[in-house]
Amino acid sequence: MKRACVIGAGFGGLALAIRLQSSGIATTILEARDKAGGRAYVWEREGFTFDAGPTVITAPDALEELWALSGAKLADDVELMPVMPFYRLHWGDGTSFDYSNDEPRLRAEIARLAPGDLAGYEDFAQFAEEVYREGYQKLGAVPFLRFSDMIRAAPALVRHQAYRSVYGRVSGFVKSEKLREALSFHTLLVGGNPMTTSSIYALIHALEKEGGVWWAKGGTNRLVAGMVALFERLGGKIRLADPVVRVHTVGNRASEVETLSGWRERFDAVASNGDLMHTYRDLLADGPRGGQMAKSLAQKRWSPSLFVVHFGLEGTWPGIPHHTIMFGPRYKGLLEDIFDHGVLPRDFSIYLHHPTITDPSLAPPGMSTFYALVPVAHLGKLPIDWAEVGPILEKRILDEVGLRFIPDIHDRIITKFHYTPTDFVDDLAAYKGSAFSLEPLLTQSAWFRGHNRDDVISNFYLVGAGTHPGAGVPGVVGSAKATAGLMIADLRG
Ligand SMILES: Cc1cc2nc3c(=O)[nH]c(=O)nc-3n(C[C@H](O)[C@H](O)[C@H](O)COP(=O)(O)OP(=O)(O)OC[C@H]3O[C@@H](n4cnc5c(N)ncnc54)[C@H](O)[C@@H]3O)c2cc1C
Repeated sequence: MKRACVIGAGFGGLALAIRLQSSGIATTILEARDKAGGRAYVWEREGFTFDAGPTVITAPDALEELWALSGAKLADDVELMPVMPFYRLHWGDGTSFDYSNDEPRLRAEIARLAPGDLAGYEDFAQFAEEVYREGYQKLGAVPFLRFSDMIRAAPALVRHQAYRSVYGRVSGFVKSEKLREALSFHTLLVGGNPMTTSSIYALIHALEKEGGVWWAKGGTNRLVAGMVALFERLGGKIRLADPVVRVHTVGNRASEVETLSGWRERFDAVASNGDLMHTYRDLLADGPRGGQMAKSLAQKRWSPSLFVVHFGLEGTWPGIPHHTIMFGPRYKGLLEDIFDHGVLPRDFSIYLHHPTITDPSLAPPGMSTFYALVPVAHLGKLPIDWAEVGPILEKRILDEVGLRFIPDIHDRIITKFHYTPTDFVDDLAAYKGSAFSLEPLLTQSAWFRGHNRDDVISNFYLVGAGTHPGAGVPGVVGSAKATAGLMIADLRG
């Protein structure tokens, strides 16, 4: 029986390990932290459950597929609950817009917000549908190992004007600035600036429309737990709380994997779900390949980081939906501050997560769980002392949520804490504290992203946000399919 090792138990690593184990390859996951999940880590505090990362679960079919490989059903391990509306978009002047795939309701919302843009919205939706078929359904889970793979995709990219930004393309369809923001903010969910990210990423709009927006009962951590349970039932092994420190190579082959505790084992194939820079710079530090790639990765644009305030409140808020995007007074200028200038702006746009509206089990009776997230520049652009700035920003964010929705927020707090760019470095070895790995620019997508199989070390593979197609749960689960295809074929020789 061939033996494979997957370094890291993020969504990408887990999906890859399930695919390998399902195909009869004895697979071991080595995870640095005490729990699986990676960016989807979880904390339990004073009866509240706080999911660290992904909250918008889309493309449930891609997850179903992992269970179906062994004839099982996702529903055996996880209950997915529909979320409606998908998001409420809210502006400082009190305007709000509910966004969903309920077409009559969505049309009524557009008619209320921007009556002149209904026809333009239809054209945009058609465009999003086309790029979804081309970019996600056809190419979302295939590896781009050769430049010729990119050339083959080029006609479709040109046809869909992939060189234009999502915001630019949306602006061609609709005139209302608020609707432009509502239809373009999605790239932020995968670390991209709507002003510069390729219009191909408008596919997220169609992906949500087609598959819906879901919540895993008990939290995203239950989805992670379900994946771990499936993997272990299949016979896979997982070692927690023991970071890999080295992937040893002999010639152009990965031979052994060594962890901090001194555990060392040989494998036929090794895949890393860890941060791209960490993988090459640290884990492959022994040979020339690691340093060479680290140098090249240092030249790339890395996506911003995030600052997240988690808080548990006394009371319940039936009027606050599961997902709210609270737009600030500036859109383009704010994005430039985060992505280009690297300053900490005075204003912000906040994503407010309120899971207890869907699933009260995440808080004690009569109480509510929230997180408020703002994108911030990564540490390479904004090298500030987060221990000092964190509490100040936390208060400003809570004040803004209070101003708009919960006037006595500070009096109701039972527990709170925040997560900063520095935590992304310390907990996840994330380069510059980037929350989504390489920025999803056209020049850093597909072949230009981390390759699913290394070009030189022939049995070393990559999976996760730094590889094609990129960040987000559907993205990394797609990357796992691409990587598994290569590994299974290579191991079967
Ligand atoms: C706050 C936040 C909110 C988000 N919201 C959403 C959302 O709503 N919907 C969505 O689809 N996406 C969302 N995302 C993006 C999504 O969470 C990520 O793109 C995705 O989970 C990344 O998965 P990954 O496979 O790349 O692995 P990661 O989650 O990055 O996990 C990598 C794992 O590798 C481990 N590791 C690293 N180095 C080593 C080592 N040396 N040895 C052993 N283990 C190692 C790490 O500990 C970690 O567990 C969000 C991200 C964040 C941060």
